[in-house]
Amino acid sequence: MKKLSFSAAAATATLLCASAFSSVAAADQKFITIGTGGQTGVYYVVGQSVCRMVNRNSDDHGVRCNAPSTGGSVANVNGMKSGELDMGVVQSDVHYRAYNGQANFEADGAWGDMRSVFTMHGEPLTVIARMDSGIENFADLKGKRVNIGNPGSGQRNTMDLVMDRMGWTVSDFALASQLDAAEQSAALSDNNIDAMIYVVGHPNGSIQEATTTVDARIVPVTGPEIDGLVSEFSYYTRSVIPGGLYRGNDNDVETFGVAATFVSHAGVDEEIVYQTVKAVFENFDRFKRLHPAFENLTEETMISDGLTAPLHDGAARYYKERGWIQ
Ligand code: GLU
Repeated sequence: MKKLSFSAAAATATLLCASAFSSVAAADQKFITIGTGGQTGVYYVVGQSVCRMVNRNSDDHGVRCNAPSTGGSVANVNGMKSGELDMGVVQSDVHYRAYNGQANFEADGAWGDMRSVFTMHGEPLTVIARMDSGIENFADLKGKRVNIGNPGSGQRNTMDLVMDRMGWTVSDFALASQLDAAEQSAALSDNNIDAMIYVVGHPNGSIQEATTTVDARIVPVTGPEIDGLVSEFSYYTRSVIPGGLYRGNDNDVETFGVAATFVSHAGVDEEIVYQTVKAVFENFDRFKRLHPAFENLTEETMISDGLTAPLHDGAARYYKERGWIQ
């Protein structure tokens, strides 16, 4: 009996020692949540990949990360504003409008607390139509059954502006559905809609699903109204969806697009954002291998392009340490 209590005491002492020298105490753990998008899109993979890098070293820095599926860019901005999300992936056009309080964000006013962290992959506005719908170009969408996107999504925000420029309202479509990104491919193959719209990196699971379950084509998005948008707003650029990524779509398709940006807000602790960017850039090759849309990312463009809001202090601290900024 005596011997037993001696070994119990020794074991306790060893445990105490171990926790004092190795990991962060449970009470000091910080949990962060990153807003993403639908599960068949690329934002979900961005969030999961960032978290995977962060959680590799949670024992050292105490940050634990999770990245649930959300409604997309606008839902992510609203989630950060309400404090439910610490960081999020947001289209560069939505990012700009939220920061400056424009368009759909006019009623909320400018959100000066938004902070840039880095920029990710390009996201062309992608229109996919059933072959049997007769839709061959963007103007053909008029009068058809079109999924214009759920209100929390980036594509819906972009489409509201495009529709305005085209002089269209929802009543110009036979049906203007508002399905979530993850639901639209099934709606297309079930013939509930003629076309779906997704502002998204390529290749992605959603368009893979649409093009393998039904004969569908990626439709060009061109014309004077689109030219006008690209010349008026610096966050819109001409873009090409390469041929050969999806079944039945062997040729390049012209459209316009934005960039996916990774953002946070001033209320998030500097150390947390510092550890997050450090985890990504210190495992950069590993990170880039997690999705084909990340393949062409470079540190240089990630920390310079499309960053409308000021850099978060934690990101700036890491980029300075690396000598990437002054
Ligand atoms: N761009 C879309 C949005 O803002 C999401 C794309 C994705 O999930 O990859 O809602």
